[in-house]
Amino acid sequence: MDWEKVFASRAMRMKASEIRELLKLLEQPDIISFAGGIPDVALFPKEAVSKAYGEVLAGDQGDAALQYSVSEGYKPLRDWIVKEMAKIGIPCNATNVFITSGSQQVLDYLGKLFLSPNDTALVTWPTYMGALGAFNAYEPTYDKLLPMSNRPASSYVDAAEKAGGRVKFAYAVAEFHNPTGETMTKGEREWLLDLAETLDIPVVEDAAYQALRYDGETVPPILALDIARHGGDINKTRTFYCGSFSKTLAPGLRVGWVVANEEVVRKLVLIKQAADLHSSTINQMVIGKVADGVFAEQVEKIKRVYSHRRNQMLAALQKSMPAGVEWTKPEGGMFVWVTLPKGMDGAALLAKAIAEAKVAFVPGRAFHADGSGQNTLRLSFSCASDEMIETGISRLGSLIRSELAA
Ligand code: PMP
Repeated sequence: MDWEKVFASRAMRMKASEIRELLKLLEQPDIISFAGGIPDVALFPKEAVSKAYGEVLAGDQGDAALQYSVSEGYKPLRDWIVKEMAKIGIPCNATNVFITSGSQQVLDYLGKLFLSPNDTALVTWPTYMGALGAFNAYEPTYDKLLPMSNRPASSYVDAAEKAGGRVKFAYAVAEFHNPTGETMTKGEREWLLDLAETLDIPVVEDAAYQALRYDGETVPPILALDIARHGGDINKTRTFYCGSFSKTLAPGLRVGWVVANEEVVRKLVLIKQAADLHSSTINQMVIGKVADGVFAEQVEKIKRVYSHRRNQMLAALQKSMPAGVEWTKPEGGMFVWVTLPKGMDGAALLAKAIAEAKVAFVPGRAFHADGSGQNTLRLSFSCASDEMIETGISRLGSLIRSELAA
C-alpha cells in the first residue's frame, strides 16, 4: 500500500521528531532525565481519586456516570470552575465554561475553528511543542509574537497575506511557559491585547501551569484584563482561557476546560459533538468530587515539592555551569530554559549527554516554529530528586565545559 498517495495534505506535517527517537533511549535505568515535562506520580491524590470513583458509582449518579452526557461538560464541575475563575479575577457563568479532554483538545479545536490552510497563527519563539503539533494539522504558517516591539500591526497582516491567508489568532502560554518557565508581565499582556484588538483576532491563553506559582507577584490572566476592558462583561471578550487539571490533580483523567465568550463556547460545543460527543462522564464527576475535597491542599503540596526542586536546580546550575551559559529563573511551573553559547547545538549535545554523561533534556529547536533555537534546551525539575539534580546538573556542566574547550 502506498500510504503517501492516500494521506490528506494535512498529514504531511505529522512527523515523529528526531528528538522523540533519542528520548526513547531514556528507558535505560542509569540515565538521569530532566526531559519529561510531566508531573511526579508520587504526588497524585490516589486515595482521593479511588474514594471518589467508589462514591460516584455507588451514589445516585452511579448510572449517569457510565452513560453518555452533554457536550458542554458536567454542570457541577463547570459550577466549581466558575467559582475558581472568580478567585483569579475572571467573573463568568457556567455558559462560559466548556469541559474538554485535557487542555490539549482545546488547542486542536481552536485550530479547527479558526485555521484554514495557509492562515497565520501568532506564537512565541519558542512555544509549547504540543500547540504547534495541534495547529499543524490545519496547515497554518506562523509569525512571531514577543518580545514586545514597535513592529506595526499591518506588517503581520502583510506577512499573512503573502503566505496566502489571514492572521487568525495569537497563542501564548502566559504563565510559567513550557518550555521557558517565564511569565508574561502585565505590560506584555496588555500589549498582546492591544495587538489582538488592532488585528481583530482572538487570543488563546494557555494556562496549563497557572496554579503552580511558587513566588513572585501574581499577574492578572489575559482574560481578566480583557474582561476589565469591557466593563466586566466576558461576553464581549476575545480571549480563550485554557485550563487543565493535569498539573494539579492527574493528567491521566484527561480533564481540562476553556472559559470564553459564550458565543464561541457554543461553537466549540458543536465541534465536540462531532468529534467525541463529550469528555468522560465518570472522570468529570470524579474530578468534581476530588476538586471539592482536596484541591487546595493538593495544590499546596505540589507547590511545596516543586518549588524546592526548582530551587535545587537553580542552585545546581549556578554551581556547575561554565561562563557563557544562561538560564531562566522561573517563578513557578516545571521548567528551566537554558541558552548555550552561540554555535553549540542542543541536539548534538543531547546525543553526547545520553551516551557519555547519562543525562537527558529536550533540545530547544523543536519548540521553535521556524526551526531556530539550536543553542537552547529545556530542563524539567518536576520529577527530579535532590540527588538527581545535584549529580545530573554537575555531569551536564562538565560535558558543556569540555565541549567548549574542544
Ligand atoms: N499546554 C501546555 C503549555 C502544556 O505544557 C501541556 C501539557 N504538557 C498542555 C497544554 C496539555 O495538557 P493537558 O492536555 O494534559 O491538559
